[in-house]
Amino acid sequence: MSLVELLARTIRQAPSAPMRETFIAPKMLPVCCVCGLIRDETGSSPDHERWVTPWTYRTTHGVNPADVPLTHTYCLACFRKAQETTRQYFREIGTPL
Ligand SMILES: [Zn+2]
Repeated sequence: MSLVELLARTIRQAPSAPMRETFIAPKMLPVCCVCGLIRDETGSSPDHERWVTPWTYRTTHGVNPADVPLTHTYCLACFRKAQETTRQYFREIGTPL
């Protein structure tokens, strides 16, 4: 199929196509430095963060995370583990937090 045919088919189908949420590719992707999950900020709120695998992110948004600069952070589960590890460390050396 030529590009023109593909474009014509796409344009004809557009009026009946379901409305999709507009997705704007981020300039940086927050990724958990421990488990590698990506915070998907589309439709999530600070109260309810959504963490997905790179494969899910690519499939959902059509953006390959490898093509976007990453910024490292912790997902909630890994943050809690790191917090507990830190508490345990300070308990063992006898220094209160
Ligand atoms: Zn994590």
